[in-house]
Amino acid sequence: MGNMGNWFRQLGNGIKAGFFRFMDGRYGGDKLNITLVWVSFAAYIISLFIPVALVKLCLLVVYYSLLGWAIFRFLSRNTYKRYEENRKYLRFMDRLKDKEHRYFDCPRCHQPVRVPRGKGKIAITCPKCKEKFIKKT
Ligand SMILES: [Zn+2]
Repeated sequence: MGNMGNWFRQLGNGIKAGFFRFMDGRYGGDKLNITLVWVSFAAYIISLFIPVALVKLCLLVVYYSLLGWAIFRFLSRNTYKRYEENRKYLRFMDRLKDKEHRYFDCPRCHQPVRVPRGKGKIAITCPKCKEKFIKKT
């Protein structure tokens, strides 16, 4: 029995080592990937309850493409680009959760500008290029 246990342990280590070798230089998981998997999974579950063929098809397309995207990102060797995508996603989520501010991109230099919410129409001056633009907050 001891031999058997050893053998299994060796097999386990071998698989683990193989996996790490396979993942070497690849991007792996991040928050964006977790979200992609969850949303794709949700689309799949909803599709099970939708009797309309066209809607079902659309949900399945969402399911496969988001899952495919997540797998692509997980295995990607372009880690810098994947990291940037995740950073943008996290920034987007931060903005979404921020109930006290609104975010605008400067029309001239695309610098993101944060302003307090609920002030009506205000003139915003871009902190970078000093461009003035009017937005409703
Ligand atoms: Zn600007």
